[in-house]
Amino acid sequence: MRGAGPRTEREGGLNTHPAIPADAADLHTHSTASDGLLPPADVVRLAAASGLAAIALTDHDTTAGLAEAAAALPAGLTLLPGAEISCRVRVGRDRWVSLHLLAYLFDPVEPVFAEVRARLRAERVTRAQRMVEKLAADGHPVAWERVRALADGVVGRPHVAEALVEAGLVGSVQDAFTPAWIGAGGRYWVDKDEPDVAEAIRLVRDAGGVSVLAHAFASRRGATIGPDVIARLARDGLGGLEVDHPDHTPEARARLRQLATDLDLIVTGASDFHGASKPQSLGAETTTRQALDALVAAGRGTEPLTGQDQPATGPAPNR
Ligand code: AMP
Ligand code: ZN
Ligand code: FE
Ligand code: FE
Repeated sequence: MRGAGPRTEREGGLNTHPAIPADAADLHTHSTASDGLLPPADVVRLAAASGLAAIALTDHDTTAGLAEAAAALPAGLTLLPGAEISCRVRVGRDRWVSLHLLAYLFDPVEPVFAEVRARLRAERVTRAQRMVEKLAADGHPVAWERVRALADGVVGRPHVAEALVEAGLVGSVQDAFTPAWIGAGGRYWVDKDEPDVAEAIRLVRDAGGVSVLAHAFASRRGATIGPDVIARLARDGLGGLEVDHPDHTPEARARLRQLATDLDLIVTGASDFHGASKPQSLGAETTTRQALDALVAAGRGTEPLTGQDQPATGPAPNR
């Protein structure tokens, strides 16, 4: 391991985040393969320029950005293949809470999990179309073709939000994520069918991967779960908790960190970078080298990739 203290300066004027510690990893990022604004190649280049040692690409319900990110991987930067899986958990007789599960180092072509990701992507299309229909029924002119065109890859609410901004119906993407529009449970929000989180954990594990519960206590995103549910998920095979996340308060972080200790779960930190559409910059929150090593030891579906000094001469890895 290299020096532990914060890295305060870097050669070449490339250090956009002076506080990023040496060996830090940002394990939750999005590209244009889902609802991020930067192409996968730009995400990995920015990661290297920001002084990160490792990054995971975790697009919503897809690994489609992986090949491009791998082909553009700067020398010395490690890339963990991953995805952020939409799922849910039952918390009462008729009450479900939406959860996001970060899946790392699973085999991207393992057919059972790949099929579930494909189903989730199809479900996203149907659901975005239904939101557009609800808007149209109220006389709000948002075209499905426009929403589809705004998404390079997997469709998400941010693309519907962008179309609402373009149509002049809301002032900003943030304004679209409110009860009056497409915020959780909002007027034009539509639910989607998602796997139970225990099933998602099993799918990830059976594909050789390791799962980490994303932003579990981010209460401004909607209903959250309690420690009892997290304890159950730990018994179901959850590998870690995303503790340091921009949407977590200091209190939420402290509670999650304690839970991770009690349940013997790996603690991660990550920016949930989406490009400029959201305020947090790449590397704004990070995972320690020790936690990264623990994740890598637990994942056996595919290897982390590290950029080489010499560009590869063969075809880009397509995994
Ligand atoms: P979806 O997965 O299609 O339901 O969309 C959820 C995604 O929308 C999240 O992963 C974020 O990228 C984005 N999002 C959620 N809340 C907000 C918000 N308040 N402002 C901007 N983007 C948001
Ligand atoms: Zn997103
Ligand atoms: Fe998420
Ligand atoms: Fe995310």
